[in-house]
Amino acid sequence: MASAANPSLESTHFVCGYDCGLYIEIQRLDHKDTIMLEKPMEKGKRLPSDIPSVDELLKSPYGNKWLATYPRKTVLRSIREVLGQRRRDILNGLTPELSLDAISPEVEMVLRLHSTYKLKPLINATGVIIHTNLGRAILSEKAIENINILACSYSNLEYELKEGKRGKRYSHIKDILKEISGAEDALIVNNNAAAILLCLNTFAKDKEVIVSRGELVEIGGSFRIPEVMRSSGAILREIGTTNKTHLYDYENALSGNTALLLKVHQSNYAVTGFTEDVGLAELVRLAREYKIPLMFDLGSGCMIDLQRYGIYGEPTVQDIIKAGADIVTFSGDKLLGGPQAGIILGRERLIQKIQKNPLLRAVRIDKLTLAGLEATFMQYLDEEKAIKEIPTLRMLTQSIDVIKRRARKIYNSLKELSNQASIEILKDISYAGGGSLPEAKLLTYVVSIKPHGISVNELEKRLRQGEPPVVARIKANALLIDTRTVQDKEIKELINCIRTALNM
Ligand SMILES: *Cc1c(COP(=O)(O)O)cnc(C)c1O
Repeated sequence: MASAANPSLESTHFVCGYDCGLYIEIQRLDHKDTIMLEKPMEKGKRLPSDIPSVDELLKSPYGNKWLATYPRKTVLRSIREVLGQRRRDILNGLTPELSLDAISPEVEMVLRLHSTYKLKPLINATGVIIHTNLGRAILSEKAIENINILACSYSNLEYELKEGKRGKRYSHIKDILKEISGAEDALIVNNNAAAILLCLNTFAKDKEVIVSRGELVEIGGSFRIPEVMRSSGAILREIGTTNKTHLYDYENALSGNTALLLKVHQSNYAVTGFTEDVGLAELVRLAREYKIPLMFDLGSGCMIDLQRYGIYGEPTVQDIIKAGADIVTFSGDKLLGGPQAGIILGRERLIQKIQKNPLLRAVRIDKLTLAGLEATFMQYLDEEKAIKEIPTLRMLTQSIDVIKRRARKIYNSLKELSNQASIEILKDISYAGGGSLPEAKLLTYVVSIKPHGISVNELEKRLRQGEPPVVARIKANALLIDTRTVQDKEIKELINCIRTALNM
């Protein structure tokens, strides 16, 4: 799993690469360290006072052109950065070119850099479908369409059209969620972590929540069940051991101060071997007997029976509700394939109580997310269509022939590069990711690239820093392009990116 999803995005260095004939400079985005690769030509001494002023540049034809295109603030900042670098160079004993003609191309480069969005699309060639670092689910056309419509219009977000009075933002999606899931009631918040926090705070502040030690999971990005529990004010009552928890462990832990039984889906790992945990049916019986609500954090929240598509190991939300869980929480942007959200389903009486918690306001869902979610849920009414139209489900269930055809297309376009790299098509495994289906190995095809002149790490870096960036994985000294997660519309661009990276 870790090797499949290792884009190590934190350590990104930016190759500024402005080569104006004098020197090439590699800068980190924070401008902290600058490494000189080539010494400039000696052309007589320079003084800082020889550097043109900001005003000179602004008033030049170059400056006029920049001001017509970019915000004044960005122009000023870019000029100052380039002139500042000139000053440092001179103080370091270098002799940079100081004419406006020499300086202006650099300013333009920096201007362009400061004028592009920092958050940008990339090509996911890792094969990990729900990749938290890469933005999780891609939305369906219908969801995008509805977000667009709601974004540029007023709406009945909190307004009852029938009665002409104030309404609730949570009401719009309730009926469809009830219909799909079979739950009595539903509530949507910002994400699943917020959903869990809100539920624990509502039902178990200063009270005990019983959880099996085998389920005290860390999801990544510092989200750990024990820590969320502490933040919510609930008291964690751990029971059992890592590999075994019995029904009597739950029974023995029950006390007058028990507020909740919590079950957490072992989403991103599997405990195998000498193991035992208490099944949902038994827990439901226990919860009923002691009149304590049973909450199930499902994590991914799959609403389609994937077994029909040969994928095993993920219970459906519908099954969990039917089995009698009183509260179920899951993410909107994992297997569901919608926008980031936390979905809370369960007993009407309990959901009503959550709605009265003032914390709800702090974790409330926004209207664009709601628009995307409603459209996504509508698609679930027709399962056949949902599988085809919701990208997450499509990538998960797509036929191996489609994946292979995509790999072949890329391979055929790269064949001519046999001098630069050994390229072949291989069978491999891709993963669902996002803390779902940890054991499901999805057969896939990858384009394997072993570069000749450069290291595979260098190739990986060039692709990652390219335009658009391509994130791929490395295995056995080869760069693997897993075509499961590459969109058809991206193939041409991807081929160009690989070509550029190999020919740099
Ligand atoms: C992913 C996950 C969460 C957190 O959900 P977010 O939507 O990222 O807040 C919580 N619990 C489990 C079991 C998960 O898999």
